[in-house]
Amino acid sequence: MIAYIERFLHESDVDPTTGDSNDDVLPLLNGFDCHVISTEFSSSTDRDFGGMQRSKPIAVVKPSTADDVARVVRLASQTPHLTVAARGNGHSVNGQAMAHRGLVLDMKSLDFPTLIHVDVDSLQADVSGGALWEDVLLNCVRGYGLAPRSWTDYLGLTVGGTLSNAGVSGQTFLYGPQTENVTELEVVTGNGDVSVCSKSQNSELFFSVLGGLGQFGVITRARVLLQPAPHMVRWIRVVYSDFSDFTRDSEALVTTGDTFDYVEGFVFVNGDDPVNGWPSVPLDPDQVLDPTRIQSSAGPVLYCLEVALHYNNEDPTFAVEERVDKLLGRLRFVEGLRFEVDMAYTEFLLRVKRAEQHARANGTWDAPHPWLNLFVSKNDIIHFDRLVFKNILRRGVGGPMLVYPLLRSKWDSRNSTVVPESSEIFYLVALLRFCLPYPKGLSVEEMVMQNQELVRICTENGFDFKLYLPHYSSSEGWKKHFGNKWTRFLERKARFDPTAILAPGQEIFSRNW
Ligand code: FAD
Repeated sequence: MIAYIERFLHESDVDPTTGDSNDDVLPLLNGFDCHVISTEFSSSTDRDFGGMQRSKPIAVVKPSTADDVARVVRLASQTPHLTVAARGNGHSVNGQAMAHRGLVLDMKSLDFPTLIHVDVDSLQADVSGGALWEDVLLNCVRGYGLAPRSWTDYLGLTVGGTLSNAGVSGQTFLYGPQTENVTELEVVTGNGDVSVCSKSQNSELFFSVLGGLGQFGVITRARVLLQPAPHMVRWIRVVYSDFSDFTRDSEALVTTGDTFDYVEGFVFVNGDDPVNGWPSVPLDPDQVLDPTRIQSSAGPVLYCLEVALHYNNEDPTFAVEERVDKLLGRLRFVEGLRFEVDMAYTEFLLRVKRAEQHARANGTWDAPHPWLNLFVSKNDIIHFDRLVFKNILRRGVGGPMLVYPLLRSKWDSRNSTVVPESSEIFYLVALLRFCLPYPKGLSVEEMVMQNQELVRICTENGFDFKLYLPHYSSSEGWKKHFGNKWTRFLERKARFDPTAILAPGQEIFSRNW
């Protein structure tokens, strides 16, 4: 039964742009067993983490089961204009989880308290599409000593939200994105059908939904692969002044069998700026980056390779030290610029939660976040560094500038996510701006314009790149984004959501396209 519906509709509302009225929707909504919370527009669902867009849904529905979700989708299908957006934790930055004058499904209410059913024999867990990854982690580790294999850096995201994109972090080079680490999904399609799918059952739906930007179905349950969780992690950062050394070492780590359990990296400013510069590297307040170690010939930015090694409480300390030294011994980082800490595995995976607390306290968590995420081919990353990191972004972006390699062969091309195809290795580049609101920081417009300039530079220089967590407002943009996979995307849409009810905030299709 639907937990309740929060309704913002005024009977007299008419969309000024389309002339659509909601008069036909009200009686349908009244058919639900629901509790009307409010007829005022007053919900957190009108905005997202990006903080740049606002939209006004007709109602927020809190479904309890997949059947509730199906009823909502079927309700929308009875009208010519109503859309339905699954909202995970609303951590998109461009309104992707919004439905202007549509219905928003608050996925976190699904299967509440959160469904997490672990099967220790098959090393899999059934989890609700609205579950937060941090809850999945803590349940699996505390209850069973097990954990999913592939993560995002931040775990305050929902299972359905990241599976609709890809879900990448420092384990992706080993296991592929999160979309490669699920074996079965329960999905409510745009036709209002509840289907179970996997690589062998309803496989076209399975591949469509993974990385499908919410276009083909609402994920109500996922079966996630698990592995034994280590007790501890040695978390290490080493610094490079030369980008070629950095990329050579990062690429060697992600392509050799004998390696770390996690490999990431980031660019930082060669200066004492507390947010963008040297102080952003040490892992502990007792550690300091000694700038006299950096060659005087170093450029305006430096590079930090971030790695982690798993181990267990019973592993002798000398064995851990030996292994770390062996793996680091092959690398060419700046001597003396090595920082490390040991921490519990769960603490390591929840590290961004601590950064969240800090950002909430200083006001940058609630400020707008015009983030840009790209996948850039290895063939173009040196050129990208010269034009972008060393030039346009040489003063930083007010937050992490991630750059780390991923392997194309770990991404199933049958899934909907698109990645650069000209090389086996491509880089995730993430510009995670955490700026104080204007006038203390850049204005949102300036940051958005800088993002646009970076995309223009990639295009004009013929780089092989894709937007990750893409956002385009023209169908031309989407067509180019999907490239030779566009026809397949259209066919999938026609099959699973033919009247374009789902995920209108992605702005790929409109009702009855
Ligand atoms: P929402 O923003 O609520 O939704 C995203 C899209 O998915 C929308 O179109 C929505 O309609 C659709 N959707 C939501 N739930 C479902 C469902 N159950 N079924 C079908 N469609 C659904 N990404 C990474 O890959 N790696 C990272 O390390 C990473 N770190 C991040 C850190 C922060 C602080 C933030 C804000 C984002 C980060 N992201 C990262 C991006 C994140 O993966 C995406 O923004 C993701 O979509 C957010 O999940 P959500 O649950 O908030 O989804």
